[in-house]
Amino acid sequence: MESSLVKENPLLLPLNQEKTIYDGFITVQVTHVCLCASLQLHCCWQLKHLLRGYECIVKQVTKKYCTVCCILPCCMEVALKSHPECRSMPPPQYYSQLISEMEALGWDKLLFIDTEFRTLRLKADDSSGRQHVLTVQLKSKHPAEPPECSADLPIPLAITWTPQSTLEQLHSQFLLVLESLADFWAVLDEIDRETWILEPEKPSRADTMRRIAIGNNVSIKVEVDPRHPKMLPECCLLGAEHVVTPLRSKLNANMHSWNPDSSVLHNLRDVLEIEFPSPATHEKSSFSVECGICYSYRLEAAIPDQVCNDPRCGQPFHQACLYEWLRALPSSRQSFSIVFGECPYCSKPITVKMAAQKS
Ligand SMILES: [Zn+2]
Ligand SMILES: [Zn+2]
Repeated sequence: MESSLVKENPLLLPLNQEKTIYDGFITVQVTHVCLCASLQLHCCWQLKHLLRGYECIVKQVTKKYCTVCCILPCCMEVALKSHPECRSMPPPQYYSQLISEMEALGWDKLLFIDTEFRTLRLKADDSSGRQHVLTVQLKSKHPAEPPECSADLPIPLAITWTPQSTLEQLHSQFLLVLESLADFWAVLDEIDRETWILEPEKPSRADTMRRIAIGNNVSIKVEVDPRHPKMLPECCLLGAEHVVTPLRSKLNANMHSWNPDSSVLHNLRDVLEIEFPSPATHEKSSFSVECGICYSYRLEAAIPDQVCNDPRCGQPFHQACLYEWLRALPSSRQSFSIVFGECPYCSKPITVKMAAQKS
């Protein structure tokens, strides 16, 4: 390159005495610059990364063309065409469209946007003040092509999208979905606030199941229907037989008095004729009794839910721990998926089902 160019363009600096190697920025308007045959291309690491594996094509291009401004667009074309993540790069109007849509929605709703401007996380507060996040994956043909949306919901998120739709309309649709689930979350929030939840460890807004502590090694697993949150949920009592059997009888006997106008927690109290231990009255540690075999409470996601039925023992075990323990004993016997053996603590008969195989 002629040295005059370097003077005119302070962003391009020679790196060697022969002035065959340059680094810096090149403006496309500069034309008719002759390059030596030993031209080397120095560029930013991003462009280098793009051109990796295409060095021979770049060399051919540099032989064919004699000016910087011919080479660069060619290199860019090679690089962009060959890189899968760049192939679907949206046209310029994609970005102007996105900005005007975000302006209409309000920038305060934007929690996150990735460096490609393709994935957005939008904030949405429901009328009870719960905070939700809508993740939007825009297609390069946005808004002609509908975006992919996801959120922490107990139901599939169905969004109506037309080529005229905007992010603001999408956000309003999401708010309506949130309102339709207000009763569901109110039911679960009350349970989470006033009882000790053994499972899930950290409930998400999508979780419909709660395992509520009733007493030492006794709990009830409820599955709340997001569409009918105030109806009698699916219930499963867990614990030693001598404690669970009377509770089960009460549940069956009082089921008919379930009142859909009242909350699920109040109904459960009335139907089971119990008071649930609450964070106000009890420590959680009194319900999270560790497994009698591995001495821990959580084993991956599992909690010790196999309880010795002898009323004087009542020792809880993880299903997997008890199964492995009993299977290793010569005195145990197995029939189909059930192992019959003795409680490691009190030697009274105990049974365990084979732990479900992890998929
Ligand atoms: Zn265990
Ligand atoms: Zn026992």
